[in-house]
Amino acid sequence: MSVEENVKLVRAKIDAAAKEAGRDPGEVTLVAATKVQTSETIREAIAAGITVCGENRVQELTAHLEDNAYEGAEVHFIGHLQTNKVKYIVGRVDLIQSVDSPRLLEAIAAQAAKVGVTQDILLEVNIGDEESKGGCPVGELRDLARQAAQTPHVRLLGLMCIPPVVDDPVEARPYFEKMRKLFVDIKQEMGDNETDMKYLSMGMSGDFEEAVRCGATHVRVGTALFGARPPMHPQK
Ligand SMILES: *Cc1c(COP(=O)(O)O)cnc(C)c1O
Repeated sequence: MSVEENVKLVRAKIDAAAKEAGRDPGEVTLVAATKVQTSETIREAIAAGITVCGENRVQELTAHLEDNAYEGAEVHFIGHLQTNKVKYIVGRVDLIQSVDSPRLLEAIAAQAAKVGVTQDILLEVNIGDEESKGGCPVGELRDLARQAAQTPHVRLLGLMCIPPVVDDPVEARPYFEKMRKLFVDIKQEMGDNETDMKYLSMGMSGDFEEAVRCGATHVRVGTALFGARPPMHPQK
């Protein structure tokens, strides 16, 4: 199947899952997870209707930006971000989805101040409280959200997660439901006037329909659009 056919198929599944859950399909954005893809493939995806590309690696993002590969689409940073790489990202992407510590938040805010922008962000939550995973521990999320809401030059728009790997997408459901509850509770606790929280980014190739049923506004899909990736080399 071509990228174009895959985009149509995934989009149709998102729309069906949204309708099933009584939601407006227009509330759900399909983010193409473009790691390891070429600029040419990215352009193909955008021509097929992709409106947001999600990048994991600073180096790939920089190369694709130089290539103008994202023309016609937004770019989100969705990967693990080191504080020393923040300068390559802030002000160059529409949304950083993967903010997971006070230190990273401060580094992003400092760089945003330096270049004179307000950077939109999501907080990444380690929803399964897994030892070896990035994301803010659930128990520290409220403090981080409060800090983000009070920090100039960043705007907190919501939450993101990568749940534990499961065999059956139905098993991801409790994690998605927990995310949805955290999202609603934190939004409410912070007061609707004081927060711009509106996005919930969850669901990947194996479980995006389940995530949509549980309230996702952004699903991040790679394999189902572009096919299987070669094995990952270690992240630099
Ligand atoms: C690679 C990646 C995805 C997409 O994963 P697939 O299983 O290929 O759909 C989503 N989110 C993040 C953060 C990723 O790194």
